[in-house]
Amino acid sequence: MKILQSRSELALWRQKLSPAKKLGLVPTMGALHAGHGSLVSQSVADNEDTLVTIFVNPTQFGPDEDLDRYPRDLEGDLALLAQLGATAVFAPPVSEIYPQGPSHITFAIHGLDDRLCGASRPGHMNGVLQIVTILFHLTRPDRAYFGLKDYQQYRIIQTLVEELYFPLEIRPCPIVREDDGLAMSSRNRYLEGAYREQALFLQDTLQRLRAAREQLCQPGTLDTLLTAQQARYPLARLDYLEILDGRTLSPPAAITPEQAPVAFIAAYLGDTRLIDNLPLWDYPVVSDL
Ligand code: AMP
Repeated sequence: MKILQSRSELALWRQKLSPAKKLGLVPTMGALHAGHGSLVSQSVADNEDTLVTIFVNPTQFGPDEDLDRYPRDLEGDLALLAQLGATAVFAPPVSEIYPQGPSHITFAIHGLDDRLCGASRPGHMNGVLQIVTILFHLTRPDRAYFGLKDYQQYRIIQTLVEELYFPLEIRPCPIVREDDGLAMSSRNRYLEGAYREQALFLQDTLQRLRAAREQLCQPGTLDTLLTAQQARYPLARLDYLEILDGRTLSPPAAITPEQAPVAFIAAYLGDTRLIDNLPLWDYPVVSDL
């Protein structure tokens, strides 16, 4: 497995790949777990070459967020990636990606980036779109892999690629969970003791919403459910809980399978912010959403 740290090393490596072979890209911020691993394995299965990027992108963190303490474990990450069969890893310092300081270009994807995490974390989706655009241009992959755990991120990246004719295909991958249902996340490392137990607030609330999907159109159902959940999980502080059309990320006209409604949740356990989502009916074909 080749380890690349500069744009020039990456360019040289990319140049040598045969045009007849497919390259899969898996962008990550490192501190890898089995969720990231599933994306890498999917890319290794689909493509002759797989490039994984490890870069904690400063432009997607707000001023009061956890950029400085975001977990980093390059050695552990490289061991896992070698085992999974990645061809190369691009792990540049910030100065290689933003040599002139933060990008001057701002992205907005109307209707998709102003809700959910886009609303709770101003500037976050712009930072995500900056870094994926930079990585797509530097690496020129045939396919890029994104987890449905970050559903909104997946939808905005898919829209960017589709509407601006980026020459690659976006492949969504299912959420990988711990045995008790908690969605795997690099930030789960922050959770200790009771906070780890109460992190189940997210998944448990989503499952109860799905179980109550036929009643959700009746006024009060959602509020009653949420009040009960907050009593069960007093350590969890809700950021948002929304049911949106999985294609447009706008409020669905009705809560029926035709609207592909997806429930989205974000909550703080202490200082740790976690997100999760669940379709209220199984997805039709995710890549068509
Ligand atoms: P991150 O390192 O958090 O930026 O995540 C890198 C990629 O891994 C993103 O496409 C995430 O959606 C994906 N990912 C993170 N956690 C999971 C998970 N539990 N299951 C599936 N994909 C995930």
